[in-house]
Amino acid sequence: MRKQTRKKKNNLMLIVIPVILCIIALALFQMLNKKDDQNIPLPSETATITPTESPAVPEETVEPDPSEAPENSEADEKDKLIIRTDYEAFKPNESGDIPVIMFHRFIEAYEPDTDKEFTTTFEEFEALLQTLYDEGYRLISMKDFIDCNISVPAGTKPMVFTFDDGTPGQFNLIEENGELKVNPKSAVGVMMKFNEKHPDFGLKGIFYINMDIGDNTFKGAGTLRQRFEQLQALGFELGSHTWGHVKFPELKSVAQIEESLGKNQEKAEEVLPGLKFYSLALPHGLRPSDKSLWPAIVKGSYNGTEYHHQTVMAVGANPSKPSISKEYNGEYVARIRAQGRVPVECDLTWWLPKMTDERMFISDGDPNTIVVPEKHSGKIDTAKLNGKNLITY
Ligand SMILES: [Zn+2]
Repeated sequence: MRKQTRKKKNNLMLIVIPVILCIIALALFQMLNKKDDQNIPLPSETATITPTESPAVPEETVEPDPSEAPENSEADEKDKLIIRTDYEAFKPNESGDIPVIMFHRFIEAYEPDTDKEFTTTFEEFEALLQTLYDEGYRLISMKDFIDCNISVPAGTKPMVFTFDDGTPGQFNLIEENGELKVNPKSAVGVMMKFNEKHPDFGLKGIFYINMDIGDNTFKGAGTLRQRFEQLQALGFELGSHTWGHVKFPELKSVAQIEESLGKNQEKAEEVLPGLKFYSLALPHGLRPSDKSLWPAIVKGSYNGTEYHHQTVMAVGANPSKPSISKEYNGEYVARIRAQGRVPVECDLTWWLPKMTDERMFISDGDPNTIVVPEKHSGKIDTAKLNGKNLITY
């Protein structure tokens, strides 16, 4: 009897002791983590450091009836939309943040002298696409970001991809049997392959180019014009990154700024007639030191060529506000850099767990409506709705 009780007691202790040890370890881990968080200087906006909730996945979707498919392409586009109106069930919030991601170079494998922060391998990029897809992000174009024309499926989160400098790792053409093809070993090639598996992720992004480097932009087969045309045919966009990759703080007059931007626009149109830049990425993320020169970055003309950048992209360090937000500033839009060889603070890897559903833009699937929870309705600038219907719930 006694023996049995002791045995029982021993068994109980065998269970209780590890449980207690686990609780202590967990508490210690949380304490240490908390300490780490306190040491991290946060970017200008405070990050909400709470565990990411799983992305809202639509349960019921309004699927188009193929028998009613109209023939024109605009209607086709509309039919592809996945719209939901059961807002309470999936909590859309179209006042939330939209991350704009910044990429630079892509290579096959890291070399010992590869820079730490601005280069990604194709393999890592492919894995990143999967992570973003699984987290519920879907790509939108810069144009749609500017117009807040968000048509990603209900319950998913829009994201913008941006690529600076026109490097061949981002996109280049190869010749195969006399035909030009997108190099599968390029970011665009990787995206095209991913898109075959997950067409709803979106094949979107904007490439910011410097026309002064001429044929070195997307260096590879084909003419510069063929490269631009191929990108546009796939649904990608081209933006300005200045003539000469200038450092704006070094430019001291409107005329100098207008030359760097107007000349880039002029040469682009020479290569591909009709190519108009509507977005600019600031080289190094820098603006002129003299604030009175800032308007010249947005609008101006050089040699009879006019330019108008509806968005001016910064470097770092937060997800952006959507363009219909009162807090949005199109003349200095924040971007998050993709992680390079070494993770750094405020890069995409750092941000991902902090981009909670509570914080981010969650679409209702309908580009013609702006749906926000009642408590966030004050964040919308109704003057920017541009005919869209504001719905609160
Ligand atoms: Zn650059």
